[in-house]
This record gives sequence, structure tokens and C-alpha cells, in this order.
Amino acid sequence: MPRPILATVHPEALRHNLNQARERAPDARVWAVVKANAYGHGIERVFEALRSADGFALLDLAEAERLRALDWRGPILLLEGVFEPRDLELCSRLHLWHAVHCNEQIDWLAAHKTQVPHRVFLKLNSGMNRLGFAPGAFRAAWARLNALPQVEEISLMTHFSDADGPRGIAHQVAAFEAATADLPGERTLCNSAAILRHARSPLRGDGVTTLAADWVREGIALYGGAPDHPEHTAAGWNLLPTMTLSSRIIGTQLLQPGDTVGYGSAFAAEAPMRVGVVACGYADGYPRHAPTGTPVLVAGVRTRVLGRVSMDMLAVDLSPLDVAGVPCGIGAEVVLWGVSATGAALPVDEVAAAAGTISYELLCAVAARVPFAL
Ligand SMILES: *Cc1c(COP(=O)(O)O)cnc(C)c1O
Repeated sequence: MPRPILATVHPEALRHNLNQARERAPDARVWAVVKANAYGHGIERVFEALRSADGFALLDLAEAERLRALDWRGPILLLEGVFEPRDLELCSRLHLWHAVHCNEQIDWLAAHKTQVPHRVFLKLNSGMNRLGFAPGAFRAAWARLNALPQVEEISLMTHFSDADGPRGIAHQVAAFEAATADLPGERTLCNSAAILRHARSPLRGDGVTTLAADWVREGIALYGGAPDHPEHTAAGWNLLPTMTLSSRIIGTQLLQPGDTVGYGSAFAAEAPMRVGVVACGYADGYPRHAPTGTPVLVAGVRTRVLGRVSMDMLAVDLSPLDVAGVPCGIGAEVVLWGVSATGAALPVDEVAAAAGTISYELLCAVAARVPFAL
């Protein structure tokens, strides 16, 4: 028997979450963001459930090739554009749309020989200061692109730094409006947090255009994570978990007061208690920084991680189950995040918060050695 750890993808939850985006941004087309191998789920595993999206957005050219190999003929957007001139050949061949965020990418396009003019998304740096043209350079970049025979259509994009938090997006929306006001072209601004929190706010003063604009770019909310946890929960946003990471108990120990668990003796028992040892460790992608108290489900009952997470194992507190009389020994189901066979759920956001990180990181980090089931 293989090690009992398993990641299960829930296609019906992916469909549900995509429909939620459609309800929140009814007039926009939806890019399903499938970068980082669909946030750790596997592009091939999510494809059927997400194929009603209007397009797929990602950054890795090899991932774009995988989507075309699945016979996806619709739009694919490279969110970071090309990394070197010869990437443009693949864009021409596979009809990839690509972001343009710097002058070098325009130089490469100008030198690119193609029969197929490209559709590009010109990126404004509206305050995130990661990728994109500064507002003062944006028009010149647009004019350069507009003069190129290699370019068929120019759309306009920007990315928010604080759509999930108290600073908000007003300053970036104002910068976007000022820089793009009289430029033609489709617009895309919203990531998940902006879709959930701001999609219906006005973009222009015309009383019609909302921030959702022409396209939204949805990532984490597709995968059942609340981008603004703990202010909101995934359930509060009506999002369903799309991945369950589960394993089983492979050993148990009875502790007496003063007995410790695992490396560094980071947990010491205060009373007699039973501990379960789970086949899941940081080499499976479970966060090593998850401290004692991180939530976990055993046989559908919520309990906690004890002591340090090791490479291949972690320990959990079985006392709540023993108190409740729930049988749990070798072979008992453990859910690290997601949904138990009993129907009980443990949101990945809660595990991430306990470990001092975000759901994105946990989902992306599931290790290659973990087998997947659909
Ligand atoms: C990753 C990414 C998104 C999706 O972000 P989520 O917070 O996961 O919705 C959208 N736009 C760009 C440019 C990205 O890099």
C-alpha cells in the first residue's frame, strides 16, 4: 500500500466558485488564473471544471503549451508577458495573448517577424511597483505599440496591491483612470479580492462601467480561498474548498504528564493523553511552521497539531476524540485541510493563518510526491 497521503481535487467546487465570479461580475469575461499549475491543483485536473471560463491566465509558457495540448482554443494570457524575444514565436504559433510591461518587450515585438499580429495587454504600474509602465510613460508605450504591424489589438491592465485590505484600491483606480482615460481598448483590473470586494464600484464617472470592466482575473477565489481572510471566510463569500489534503494515522502514543512529542520536545503533556502520528510532513508541503494548536480533523473531529512538524510525519492530539468517544486508531482519516468523509470541513485559510501564511502558499506547495485523485 502506498503511503496514505492524498490530495483530492473537487471539480464541482471549482464550477461553483467560477459561477460565483460570474454572479459578482456579470458583465465581465473571466480569466481563470491557472498559474503555478493551477495553484497546485494541476492544470489537467482543473481544466474540465473551468473550461467554461472565457480564458486562462498564467505566466509559464510550458503551462500555456499544456493548455493547448488539452485542445483549449480560446484565449490564453501570459500575465508577465514574454521573458525573451524568442518566446514571441511561441505566442505567434499558439496564439497567446501577452502582457507588455516594459520597453524591452516592445523592442522585441518590433523586431519579431510574424504573419499573425498579436493581442497585447499593456500594463500600467498604478502603485504596486512590481511590473508595468509608470503613468508618465504609459501613453508613449501605447503609441509605440499602436504603430507596430505586429500588434493587432491593445488592451489595458493594472494590478492592485491592497484589494484585500484597509488601504483599498481608490488611489490605484484614480491612477489608472488618469493614465488611460481617452485610450481605446478593453480593460482588466480585478484579481479575486477586487472581484469579491469592489467589482461593482464605478470605474469611470459614466455611471455604467464598473471595476469589473471587460475582464476579471480570478485566482484564489476559484480555489476556495478567501483573499481577505480572516476579515471574511471562504464560506462567508460562498466559496467551496476545491482541494482536500488527507492522510491517516499510522501510529499512536500514550503520554504521561511531562512526556514530550517530536523534535525539540516542543510540546509537553500536562495530563495523560493519546497522540496520533499522521503520515504527512513538510516534505509533502505541509508547513513546518504550523505550531501546536494548528487545526486538523481526525475522523471528522476538529483537533490540533502537537509539537514540531517533521519531514514525513506530524502529531495530533487525540484527546478531544477520546473524550467524545469517537474511535480513532491506526488508519483513522486525517484531513489537513478540505473536507472529511464525514462532511466536516477545515478551511485551508485557517491552517494557513495558524502557520503564519496564506492559503495560496499552502495550495501551491503540495509536493510532487503527494498522489492526486479527482
Ligand atoms: C496571480 C494574479 C492574479 C490572481 O490573483 P488572485 O489573488 O489569486 O485572484 C491576477 N492578476 C495577476 C496579474 C496575477 O499575477
